[in-house]
Parts: sequence; structure tokens; C-alpha cells
Amino acid sequence: MKLLEFEAKKVMAEFGIPIPEHVVIRSPGELAAHLGSIPDAIVLKAQVDVGGRGKAGGIVMATRADAVRKAEELFRKQIKGLPVQVILAEERLPIQHEYYASITVNRSTKQALILFADAGGVDIETVARETPDAVRTASIPLLMHEIPAFMIRDLLHGAPKELGPVVARLYQVFCRKDAILAEINPLVTTLRGVYAADAKLIVDDNALARQGIAINRDLTEREREAEKHGFSYVELNGQIGVIGNGAGLTMATLDLIDYFDGQAANFLDVGGGADQERVMHAVRLVAGVPSVRVIIVNLLGGITRCDEVAKGIISAGVNQKIIVRLAGTNEEEGRRLLAESGYEMLDTMEQAVKAAVQEASG
Ligand code: GDP
Ligand code: MN
Repeated sequence: MKLLEFEAKKVMAEFGIPIPEHVVIRSPGELAAHLGSIPDAIVLKAQVDVGGRGKAGGIVMATRADAVRKAEELFRKQIKGLPVQVILAEERLPIQHEYYASITVNRSTKQALILFADAGGVDIETVARETPDAVRTASIPLLMHEIPAFMIRDLLHGAPKELGPVVARLYQVFCRKDAILAEINPLVTTLRGVYAADAKLIVDDNALARQGIAINRDLTEREREAEKHGFSYVELNGQIGVIGNGAGLTMATLDLIDYFDGQAANFLDVGGGADQERVMHAVRLVAGVPSVRVIIVNLLGGITRCDEVAKGIISAGVNQKIIVRLAGTNEEEGRRLLAESGYEMLDTMEQAVKAAVQEASG
């Protein structure tokens, strides 16, 4: 699994590799909102899964004055046939020199192969072909989790010493993230220090579960939103929106919908201790799917307080009918609030689900 540049940079930054100041945007408006806090000279970088974006028009220099317009243009472009959905807007670095650094696996020797080149920015295959002396390599056993200092000195040769820690940390990224490639091209020097100006990280597909990466892929806008709030959220094909707390109660609600011949449009587990704010977001999220005709909220108050839940439901202000089943902590107060606002409440799950199925089919 190849991470996008901004994802790879985030990982590298976690390991102490300096990256440029930046914002990640999904629309020109998001950039407009950040204009006050970004530097005047910036680079807009299309976050698409292809190499050589520079030559393909995916890297655009901009200033604060024209950044939003240029971002608009870049969002409309296709880079090597791929739509631009995300742009990384970065401070434009005053680059002195571009280097290349990468770590890969040498499958025949079963070792990590470290590459460093004095000529970065361009593709490394060309450098290796045309100026083989510019590329230096070293190999170390994968069981070693640090590159020995002498090896880094050899690799860097005449290059600035500050690059050493970056190479050392790149190897830590490589090991800790189960990578099959960790690359910085270009790794640049500026008067203010060194930076990873571009980053590439390919994680071994066999390690995706351990790295928690696969679950971030191909998410719908709403799924991403749910993830942001820490909700478990899944989209299905029916007409009933389901909100529960705890996987067990949520699954039981889905089972019951099936039992009464209904179909869920989606379901969301708000988790433990949801307050008004969380419940409000949950209701809005579930209601945002056009096919949702009715929403069933089935919550058990433990740490979660029913009055908070009621306030959340009321403040969500969605159009669909909401059928509520609440039990537990502060149940009376919750019921009173909902009744005052005219919500339908039922005592048991069976009743609530049955009513929702009826509403959805009616
Ligand atoms: P790639 O073409 O997909 O590898 O994208 P890169 O992120 O490597 O950018 C390509 C080239 O654009 C780099 O090698 C640099 O020459 C240039 N570039 C990227 N970011 C900056 C920057 O912040 N400042 C300057 N001056 N040039 C940059
Ligand atoms: Mn690059």
C-alpha cells in the first residue's frame, strides 16, 4: 500500500524528520480559510498516486495572492489520468541543493538497501544510469534497527552532516512502519536546515492490519467524517438509519430490523459516554444519507446519560422522523425532554424497531 505524500510526510514527521509547514485541503475554500496563516510563497502539490507529478503539472508554485485560483485550477486537472481530490499546500522552501535518500528491501540478500545520492529531485533510475558515481549504497540486516554511524558517514561522504539524522530516522520509519520502500526525493538543504520536500512510503500489504492502514482506504466522505468523530459507521442499502451505543446493542438492533423484514441504510455506534454534541453529530451524519427515511436511536444509558442523548437528538434538527428507545441513567429526564419536543419514544427495542420498519415501508 502506497501512502500519499502528505500521509507519508506525517509519518516521517512523527519520527522527527523535518517537513515543510503545510495545510492539506480538499477544496479551494479550505485554502482560502487558511490564507491568513500560510507563508506568501507556497507550492501546491496534487496528492495523487503517481510519480513525476512535477513534469505532469501536479506541482504548482503559487503566492498568497493567486493560491486559491491556482488551487481551483489544480482541482479541475487530471494528473496522469487521476482526479485531484486532495492538495498539499506547503511553504515554498528556498532550496539550496536536492539530495536523494531511500531504503528498500534487497530480496536476494534479505537486507535493507540504503541509497543516498547527491542528485535528488530527478528520478533515481536516471541518476544511476547517467552518473552512477553520484549514488551510494549500503546494506544492513533487517534485524538491525539502527544504521551504524560509520555507515551513515560513508553514505553521506561530502554531503552536509545534518542529513545524517534524517537518513537514520528514515530507516526507523522503514522498520517501524513495515515499509518496503521509504524514500525522500528530494531531501533538501536550505539556510534554515534540511527538509523532506517529497516523501514516499510503501507499506508491506501483509502488515496493513498491524499498521491500521487499510481501513482508511476508499472511505466515503461520511465515513471519513465518522472516523474523525471516532464513531463506528457503516453504510448499507436500506432506508432505516440506526444509531446505537456499543457494538452489541447496535448489531442486535440490525438483527431485529432484519427480523421484521426491514433494511438498514446505515448504522452508527456512538461508543461509550456520548454527550449532547456527539449524539447531535451522530444523528446528522446518519440523516445525511438521502435514502434514510426514518432513524431509530437505540441507546442504553450507563455512563451515557439519557438527558444528554435527548438534547443531542433535539439539537440535531434533522428532517427525518426519529424513533427513540432510551433506557438507563437519567431516563426520566431524557424522556421528558423528548416528549416535550414531540418525539416518538417506545419502551422496548422490539416496539421501536417495528415502528421504524413500518415507517420506512410506508
Ligand atoms: P514529484 O515530481 O512527484 O516527485 O514531486 P516533488 O514533490 O518531488 O516535486 C518535484 C520538484 O518540484 C522537486 O524536485 C523540486 O525541484 C520542486 N519543488 C517541490 N517543492 C518545492 C519547494 O518547496 N521549493 C522549491 N523551490 N521547489 C520545490
Ligand atoms: Mn519527488
